[in-house]
Amino acid sequence: MLPRLLTSALLFSFVAFASAVPNIRILIEGDDYCNDQSILRIRQMIKEAKTLAQSAIDTLYRPNVEKSSGFVALFGPNANPKDIADKHFAPVNILPDSPAFVVTVKRLTENDLTFTCPPYGDPKDNKARMSTRNWVDGDGHDQRNNLIRIFPNSFEYDVPDSKGSHKVDTLPLQKAVEAVIAKTWFDEKAVPMAFTLVHEVQHADVIIGAENHCLDVAFIDDKGKTVKAYGLQQIQKKITNEEKVKNAQNYAWFAFLTLAQPELFTDDCQGNPGPIPHAAGLQEPLLVQDGIASRAAEDTCKYIHGDFLNIVDTDGEF
Ligand SMILES: [Zn+2]
Repeated sequence: MLPRLLTSALLFSFVAFASAVPNIRILIEGDDYCNDQSILRIRQMIKEAKTLAQSAIDTLYRPNVEKSSGFVALFGPNANPKDIADKHFAPVNILPDSPAFVVTVKRLTENDLTFTCPPYGDPKDNKARMSTRNWVDGDGHDQRNNLIRIFPNSFEYDVPDSKGSHKVDTLPLQKAVEAVIAKTWFDEKAVPMAFTLVHEVQHADVIIGAENHCLDVAFIDDKGKTVKAYGLQQIQKKITNEEKVKNAQNYAWFAFLTLAQPELFTDDCQGNPGPIPHAAGLQEPLLVQDGIASRAAEDTCKYIHGDFLNIVDTDGEF
């Protein structure tokens, strides 16, 4: 038998844990219901989001990661890697592998979070991939809800063909990682659902806590237009270091790159080697951060030789 003190400690931690974990479910009836096919994709998305989060956590707990070029470029020189791991990636693990179903989003509580699947025709569907709604966003008791709305553009995208275009499923995570390594990426429309889910989790207060809530940070472009920093170049160069740790998309890119370009976060890739020459056929180089002088690692930090992946900026809404 367990000593009494230990038993009550276990009981206490169970109770504390149980009340903190939200009921995360999938809507299967009524407006915006998810069909069987979507449910399978959502399960896969959650599994892959956990893979992304775990890769991010493993990387962030590595010694000296905060000095690596990749970390500095995505989060700035003063961010705390363990803090980022604990507050922004560990919570992804509370997502259930197979969420239970719910038949209506009415009369749910502050502690519920529901995945819904609005169809084509929804006002947001032509650009948005997903959208997160928190309890505090709604007014009136009928309007309050915690939702992650998964739009059709998360599941599939248009590929042009001789007859116009046809729909293709967005990429599974592994396919996207392989495409990056093979340098055939990046059709931004094909972005894995799990990438977007890691982004949405940063908006979802019931998962990460309101104190860790992230935004879609915007900047003013050359034409005076307000643009949200989603693209890989934008999240490094167009927003400040303080904004980087508040921008949901920086977390999605970080997690993805720890799988696809892990060398960016190693000891061999510490500091900034200076401007990267533009490689033929590529646009802007990946991961340039001004003003941080350092040694240039010779052979192991691929991107300093121009042997890097260039990912162009994405559009669409996250
Ligand atoms: Zn967002």
